[in-house]
Amino acid sequence: MHPLIIPLFIPHAGCPHACLYCNQRLTARETDDLPRPEQIRATVREWLRRSPGRSAEVAFFGGSFTLLPRERQERLLDAVQPLVDAGQLSGIRISTRPDGLDEAALAFLRDYRVRTVEIGVQSLDDEVLQRAGRGHRAAESCAAIGRVAGAGFHTGAQLLPGLPGDTPERSLASLAGVIGAGAQFVRIYPALVLTGTGLAQLHATGGWQPPSLDATVRLCARMLLLAAKAGIPVIRLGLQSDEGLVAGETVLAGPWHPALGQLARGELYFLLVCALAGGLAGAPEQVFCHPRRIADVVGHARRNLVRWHQRGLAVQRVLADAGLAPDELVVQSCGHRMSGSILTTLNDEEML
Ligand code: SF4
Repeated sequence: MHPLIIPLFIPHAGCPHACLYCNQRLTARETDDLPRPEQIRATVREWLRRSPGRSAEVAFFGGSFTLLPRERQERLLDAVQPLVDAGQLSGIRISTRPDGLDEAALAFLRDYRVRTVEIGVQSLDDEVLQRAGRGHRAAESCAAIGRVAGAGFHTGAQLLPGLPGDTPERSLASLAGVIGAGAQFVRIYPALVLTGTGLAQLHATGGWQPPSLDATVRLCARMLLLAAKAGIPVIRLGLQSDEGLVAGETVLAGPWHPALGQLARGELYFLLVCALAGGLAGAPEQVFCHPRRIADVVGHARRNLVRWHQRGLAVQRVLADAGLAPDELVVQSCGHRMSGSILTTLNDEEML
């Protein structure tokens, strides 16, 4: 089981930048104040109480942790050291910018037993980075990933496909680039137009249109496939829905959906059934999948069943088969069966 990740937001703290798309205060619903040590410990204990016996890591997200004044980093990390000593926390995670990860910063994090470092890469295309006002280039991100991974940290990269100047090909190249640089996991947050951001102004004046939800689902499906083929987990796809992220209020435009991850995973199973159906004499009546994948195969709001019917594929039932791997499906028609896997049957070149 994956460790429980206990998020502690330090929005915008330590960050001297103003990226075009960023409104950390809004998405994290916090103030500029850092959480106090007793608040941190109380939050951790409450999460642990709700998930007894589960391995847990505390995560300082938002802002740019290593760009905080050192004394403030110490205060945050000191607060959780007793919980690490007591075995209540198995690790500490932080997120930060690529240009906040020099050797001194890494030595400091190691001293405080930080295990996981998530790097806000967003894109590996210099034009996209420049238009987003990131203030660093792609080469710095790749170097930071290599340095962090080389220093023994569990290393993640956050990507933001769909920014101005981005294309599906550039997003895929960014994903391939962070994997090639040594990222061990990724998070994918398609760009959204949030209130109070430069992107909102650009959008309001007609200077840019975000990609559609359908196009984003297709792109994210392909990114999932590329990562899966490389053996790299995508631990998050899309911003979480919470009270601070409301379509039409805080999210002005862009491909936001509360179940974006399921839509993208469902797209892969949709395409796999279509591909396998071509090898059957008749339309597939039944589809078998791993028990934990039924919801993804059926699709959000039964979307895949509807789309298969529109294509003349009259899938009647999706059934569990514990003998199948999560990436595998079997389709059946009149006693004939075809099996395949997302990883080996789908051709990611043909998916956009
Ligand atoms: S570096 Fe991060 S916190 Fe700072 S403005 Fe950019 S996205 Fe926001």
